[in-house]
Amino acid sequence: MIETRNPRTGQIDYRFQPADAAAVARSCAELRERQPAWWSAGIEHRVATLRAWKREIEARQSAIEAALTADTGRRRISQEEIGAVLHFIDGYAAVAPKLLGPITGRSSAAADVGYEQQYVPYPVVGVISPWNFPLVLSFFDTIPALLAGCAALVKPSEVTPRFVEPLRESIAAVPDLAAILSVIQGDATTGATLVSNVDAVVFTGSIATGQKVGIEAARNFIPAFLELGGKDPAIVLASADLERAATSILRSSVYNTGQVCYAIERVYVDEQVADRFTDILARQAQTLDLSHPDMDRGHLGPFIFARQAEILHEQLRDATEKGARIVTGGDIEEHGGGLWMRATVLSDVDHTMKVMTEETFGPVVPVMKFRSEDEAVRLANDTIYGLSGAVFAGTVDEATRVARRIDAGGVSVNDADLPRAVTFDAEKMAFRKSGMGGSRYGAASMLRYVRKKAIISNEGAIRGLDSLAELGT
Ligand code: NAD
Repeated sequence: MIETRNPRTGQIDYRFQPADAAAVARSCAELRERQPAWWSAGIEHRVATLRAWKREIEARQSAIEAALTADTGRRRISQEEIGAVLHFIDGYAAVAPKLLGPITGRSSAAADVGYEQQYVPYPVVGVISPWNFPLVLSFFDTIPALLAGCAALVKPSEVTPRFVEPLRESIAAVPDLAAILSVIQGDATTGATLVSNVDAVVFTGSIATGQKVGIEAARNFIPAFLELGGKDPAIVLASADLERAATSILRSSVYNTGQVCYAIERVYVDEQVADRFTDILARQAQTLDLSHPDMDRGHLGPFIFARQAEILHEQLRDATEKGARIVTGGDIEEHGGGLWMRATVLSDVDHTMKVMTEETFGPVVPVMKFRSEDEAVRLANDTIYGLSGAVFAGTVDEATRVARRIDAGGVSVNDADLPRAVTFDAEKMAFRKSGMGGSRYGAASMLRYVRKKAIISNEGAIRGLDSLAELGT
C-alpha cells in the first residue's frame, strides 16, 4: 500500500494499492486490442464520445473537486483544473476534424501520380503526470491523443492520487471511452513499467525523471514527449509600466504557491527603476494572504508536497548566506499540520545562488539589476532551462524585440503566462533541458501522436521493362 499525506493537515489519510506489472501489461494489451475500432470509428465519433465524457465530468464535478482539493489543499484552483479539462475537450474537439481530415494531392513531378496522406495513430499512448496540477496534466496531452485515434493509459502522481476514483466513474459512464482510456494509480515503479508497455509516452515532471523516461523509451524504440521543469525569467525594461509588470510577475510567481513549471522564478530589472520596482513588488506581495484557516479565503495554499518546503528553505539559506536580502516573506510556516509560505521577494541576488539557477517551485520572486539590454538577455539565457519567459517595456514593439532574443519556447509580452491563451493556435516547444519531442500546443498537440503514411497511386501507364535497360546505360 502507498500512503498519501494530506497537504492541509499533514496527516496520512489516503492509502492505495499501486497497479503491479501484470496489471499494467494487461491493461495495455486490452487497450491495444480495442484501439483499432476507436480509430476506424472516425473523428466525428471520437468527438461525440469526448463530448459525452464532458457531460459525465460535469455531472460528477463536486466529487472530483472534493478529491482534487484533498489532494492539493486548494479548492479554487481545483475548480479551475476541472474547467480547464472541459475547455480542452471543447477546444481540441473543434480543431481535430480539420487537422486530422483526409489529405490528398497530386505529384509535382509525375502528372499521373496522386497520393493520399494517411495519419496512423500510435496504438497506446502512456501518460505520466506530476502532482502540481494533477488533473490538468493528466489530460492536457491525453485528450489530443484520444482524438488522434490512440488509446491511452494514464498514471497520475502518487502524491495526489485521490481524484482518480471519482474521475474513473466519469469514464466508466461512457463505455466507448472506457474501452480505450484507463487511469491507474501507482508510483515510480508503475511509471517505469508503463514506459515498457506502451507505443509512445508523454511525461510531465522533473528533468531527472524525464531523463530516465527518455532513456527507457529509447531502449524500447518508442517516442517520448517530455515536458519538464522551468526557471522562467522576466525582464523589466526602464520604459515599462512598473505597477503592471509587478502585478503580472507576482501573479505568475505565486499562483498555486509557485508550484508551476512556467512560474516566473527570476526577474531582471533595469537598474534605473529596480529599487522602485522592488518596492512596488513587495507592497503588492504583502497584500496576499494564506488560505488558512479558511480554504475559501486568501491567495496562497499549502505546499502540496512536503519536501518542496525543504527545497525552498535550502535555496533561501544559500541565497542569504551569499548576500541576498529578503525584502518580504521568507519563512516556512506550519499551520494546522500543513506547510505554508507567504509571497517572498528577494533582492541583491546573483547567479552564484541556487535560487537563481535551480527550479524553486515556491512563491519566491528574486529581483536582480541589469545595466544594459544585452546584459539582461545574457542573464535570462544563462540557464539550463528554456520553458518560457516574459518581457515588459513601454511598447509591445520594444518588448517584442527583446522577447525574440530569449532562448525559450514561449515568451509573453507585457504580461506573464500568456501561452495558455494560444493552446489551440500557436506551437510552443520546450527548449534546452525543459523538454523534448515537439509542441503540446497548436497542431502538433495532435499530429505528434500519428505516424504519417503516404499511399501513392499511378493512374497512367507504367514504365515498361525497357526502362531498366535505359537506366543501365
Ligand atoms: P517527478 O519527476 O518526481 O514525477 C513525475 C511522475 O513521474 C510521477 O507520476 C512519478 O510517479 C513518475 N515517475 C517517477 N519515477 C519514474 C520512472 N523512473 N519512470 C516513470 N515514471 C516515473 O515530478 P514531480 O515532482 O511530480 O513534479 C514536479 C516537476 O514537474 C517539476 O520539475 C516541474 O517543473 C515539472 N512540471 C513540468 C511541467 C511542464 O509542462 N513542463 C508541468 C508541471 C510540472
